[in-house]
Amino acid sequence: KARKRFGQNFLHDPGVIERIVRAINPKPEDAIVEIGPGLGALTEEILAINPRLQVVELDRDLIPVLRTKFFNYPEFRIHEADALKFDFSQLVEDRPLRIIGNLPYNISTPLIFHLLGQAGVVQDMHFMLQKEVVQRLAAVPGDNNYGRLGIMAQYFCKVQPLFEVGPGAFKPAPKVDSAIVRLVPHETLPHPAMDLATLQAVVRTAFNARRKTLRKALGGMISAEQLQSLGIDDGLRPENLSLADYVHIADFLYDQKSGTGDEVSND
Ligand code: SAM
Repeated sequence: KARKRFGQNFLHDPGVIERIVRAINPKPEDAIVEIGPGLGALTEEILAINPRLQVVELDRDLIPVLRTKFFNYPEFRIHEADALKFDFSQLVEDRPLRIIGNLPYNISTPLIFHLLGQAGVVQDMHFMLQKEVVQRLAAVPGDNNYGRLGIMAQYFCKVQPLFEVGPGAFKPAPKVDSAIVRLVPHETLPHPAMDLATLQAVVRTAFNARRKTLRKALGGMISAEQLQSLGIDDGLRPENLSLADYVHIADFLYDQKSGTGDEVSND
């Protein structure tokens, strides 16, 4: 029986499963890690191509089910763990990881933030998510759902929404529409910040007051004059700024804090 607290909605539509596997395009030599294999609907298809698949599953009742079902794959490894706390870098051997999963929707946002922090060891990620979360990941300035998740995802990764999946593909059927997204970490960051924590603080502060003007939303961090000196109109709203703008603000603040800003000579 599916357990609500683990966000369990198991895939059962073979056409959808096949489409996801085709999107992932697993190769026998890949280092693939699946988060939340559940009863193994996706796992089974991946294992047939890549017998070294590893999975991270929190629900201890599912572990024996998975062991029994896939006993004939000696290289298959199950990590009984919370993906939110799991250090994926420990799985790296000779190549970056390909992370996949039909994620539990109740923890998908913090899980994506956790995984973005490990993007350095990742080749790509393919996730089934609530459709709205995929829209937030891919949102651009001016979109309704543009915010912290999209900005930080796009800081680290190229975000590609792939296709939508209706509730009927799952048992039990979720109340929401779903979609598959591909995240590919940038080889070199297009807008590297001098200090990631400062960038995160600026973006978080801005979107805590997303309906306000920048002057108000970022008032505690940066003055209207300073914003203007960066070429940023302080009458705009947080949703109007690009990732590059946020990096610009963060670098300015970091520069000031570390004192280097004062050392720029005037002559
Ligand atoms: N992949 C399966 C499928 O498509 O049928 C199951 C998907 S279900 C939406 C989410 C899965 O993630 C469940 O198996 C659940 O037990 C597992 N899960 C929930 N929270 C987790 C966590 N924090 N870490 C790892 N797995 C988790």
